Amino acid sequence: MALQVPYVAFRDWPAGITQQVEQAVLKVMREQQYILGPDVNAFEDAFAKFLGADFAIGVGNGFDALVLALKSVGVGPGDEVIVPANTFIATANAVVHLGAVPVLAEPDQQTCNLTAETAEKHITSKTKAIVVVHLYGQTCEMEKLQQLCKSYNLKLVEDAAQAHGVKYNNQFAGTFGDAAAFSFYPTKNLGASGDGGAVVTSDPELAAFMYRYRNYGQQEKYHNELIGINSRLDTLQAAILKIKLQHLHQLNQERQRLAGVYLQELQSISDLTLPVTADHCGHVYHIFTIRTSHRDELQSYLQQQGMQTAIHYPVPIHLQQAYRFLNYKTGDFPVTEELANTCLSLPLFPGMTAAEQEQVIRSVKSFFV
Ligand SMILES: *Cc1c(COP(=O)(O)O)cnc(C)c1O
Repeated sequence: MALQVPYVAFRDWPAGITQQVEQAVLKVMREQQYILGPDVNAFEDAFAKFLGADFAIGVGNGFDALVLALKSVGVGPGDEVIVPANTFIATANAVVHLGAVPVLAEPDQQTCNLTAETAEKHITSKTKAIVVVHLYGQTCEMEKLQQLCKSYNLKLVEDAAQAHGVKYNNQFAGTFGDAAAFSFYPTKNLGASGDGGAVVTSDPELAAFMYRYRNYGQQEKYHNELIGINSRLDTLQAAILKIKLQHLHQLNQERQRLAGVYLQELQSISDLTLPVTADHCGHVYHIFTIRTSHRDELQSYLQQQGMQTAIHYPVPIHLQQAYRFLNYKTGDFPVTEELANTCLSLPLFPGMTAAEQEQVIRSVKSFFV
């Protein structure tokens, strides 16, 4: 009987991390500072320092981080915001949530990331900002995107929900834009044990706005300077993230090692497209996505043999029912549509065993012979 291989699992890797996390949780329970307790500030400082940014503002989840980042740079009703057509729905929803219009742009066919070339075609007099998404854990080519935003006077926001601890040139993703949104959803490279998120910025004005906005618009309790929301990073999650941040490099290196094994072992299959990393771009393999025209058959074949896979993402935003109001149609984004029809994400997570990975490799190979 073949081994059951999950798409993702939470393992005690590096060994001992589970116990450290449990102790951190216990400490918070005993201190009872559940809302904006000392661990929130400690984690915010540690995360900002890790990335080389001035501020990290902990919030309830990645979606709220995107909303805050966009709102802080002034996105509002009537604005257009350029967003990659192949991203998780949250990126576009955050734009709509602020009353602005998401304008979709094709990714690069090789890297699956938005580029300055494809984004520039969509710039109009109404464009306020560009949201780049470092998809699957690979950074976008930031130099040209920064230049583009500068020359058109646009705000640059990074959706770094899949890109904790990855560098473009020698600089971390999340430090290129005016503001960057991170998610700490449990399966992300830096994951909490529940929902969590953060906005990262080095602009003190944006940070001051966001610290208040996430907490009902108050800095001092019951003194409200603006009409804010409640989206605070939970103290328990902050305590957990503080531990996990100490291991982030190691966790990412393990993902890169596992990706290296896949890349090596699957390279000779002609009907398979493997992830491509562009020059100067780092990749921390939040998701290891292969592409094949036999995607659905491969997925069922692996499933029958006990291996779970995933699709990121099966229905592009412009073909989602919720986005009919934008009046896009099939054929508008051929690269994105092809990706949706051919991509398959293989199991890859820290703590995945060699036996598990060997089985995935063996099965993928045997499918194609
Ligand atoms: C996970 C993710 C988000 C949203 O994060 P949540 O914490 O689940 O709200 C946003 N954008 C991208 C690209 C993501 O992968």
